[in-house]
Amino acid sequence: MDTSPHGYSVNPVCCNGCGACAAMVPELFEMDEEAEKPVVLLAEAPAEDIERAMGICPHDCIEMD
Ligand code: SF4
Repeated sequence: MDTSPHGYSVNPVCCNGCGACAAMVPELFEMDEEAEKPVVLLAEAPAEDIERAMGICPHDCIEMD
């Protein structure tokens, strides 16, 4: 299992602001209620946490560097 830190991002075009990532992985994302998009909270995070978020996003908008 890859536990090394990676950068991660959200593709804002793809994201519909459902909030699932921030609800399920709050250590990595917080919803910007005005923009209705998630904000990335960390510069880097363990790959396993990013992969967990990627698995939750219904539109595959979360990308790992
Ligand atoms: S789970 Fe995906 S679609 Fe939903 S807010 Fe997060 S990045 Fe956007």
